[in-house]
Amino acid sequence: PNQVAVQEAARFMQEHDRFLVLSHVSPDGDATGSALGVVLMLEQLGKEYVVVNEGETPIKFNFLPRFDRLYNLRKQPLNETFGAVIAVDCADESRMGDVRSLFASGAALLNIDHHPTNDHFGTVNLIRPDAAATAEILFDVAEAAGVSFDEELALCIYTGLLTDTGGFRYSNTSPRVMEIAAQLLGYGVKPGDVAERCLEEITFAHVKVLRRALQTLQLSHQNLVASITVSAADFAEVGAEREDAGGLVNYCRNIEGVEVGVSFVEAEPGVVKVSMRARDRVDVAVIAKQLGGGGHAKAAGCTIKGLLSEVQKKVWTVLDDAVGVKFDE
Ligand code: 5GP
Ligand code: MN
Ligand code: MN
Repeated sequence: PNQVAVQEAARFMQEHDRFLVLSHVSPDGDATGSALGVVLMLEQLGKEYVVVNEGETPIKFNFLPRFDRLYNLRKQPLNETFGAVIAVDCADESRMGDVRSLFASGAALLNIDHHPTNDHFGTVNLIRPDAAATAEILFDVAEAAGVSFDEELALCIYTGLLTDTGGFRYSNTSPRVMEIAAQLLGYGVKPGDVAERCLEEITFAHVKVLRRALQTLQLSHQNLVASITVSAADFAEVGAEREDAGGLVNYCRNIEGVEVGVSFVEAEPGVVKVSMRARDRVDVAVIAKQLGGGGHAKAAGCTIKGLLSEVQKKVWTVLDDAVGVKFDE
């Protein structure tokens, strides 16, 4: 379905004049780095743009260039309808959230992504599941567009690579990732500073959520599954925001012998964000897709409406089959 090469993605940027640039809801380092990387490329090409998120972008990414240009659609409504859209790191239309309201179905949409579950929702699709991050694809698009690299663009792309590989540790850390990262360091990126902001630094509210979450940690499915739960009441009682609950699922997956880690995070009452991480026997992208989400074989997620206990029951039903063992405690 209209899968194109990097040259055509570059041409898309050249042949339009004004763009809506967006990534996915609850943006991570790859989403934010890639969106701002596109913005820097458009600036070099002399194009106009508006870069929009459905909600707030995590403040931890404020070291990225043009961070202050990011619109929060909830706080800053826009009354413009765009004819050209660039979506990065979005596996399907729903990942764009309410930003979809800013363009009609007839708009030209360039979809740049690396999720194997991507459904090619764009009019032009550059999907490379072999890429570790959307930022890795952008590196090639920048070259094809004749954009020159500088420290700012390098920082955006490096941030996407660093965060989506878990600090160059996950199995998607290919030779190419390391080669690109090395080139980006050559443009002046300070790896220690980026890692400090993206991977090391945590908020005190995160620690307070973590303290509660660890008390809910349970093993099930003959100890092949570990899960953690954070309720809306937990957030309210410790004064934490949704973004303070990142990374909890790793405590589950990292336990020796566990094949699948799951976190249930009720960021607003009745809406549960489910994150899954696999070791090697189970493909969590397949499970997430069955539950209306998506992702990668080893990291996937979905959002399910309902009470925590109902959502857990739904997830266990699908997981029982995938793990080959029924839920137990
Ligand atoms: P996380 O659990 O960190 O939010 O997401 C892990 C991976 O799954 C990421 O690659 C993310 O893009 C994907 N993912 C998480 N939630 C959803 C979702 O609701 N829909 C889709 N399609 N992918 C998701
Ligand atoms: Mn992402
Ligand atoms: Mn990504």
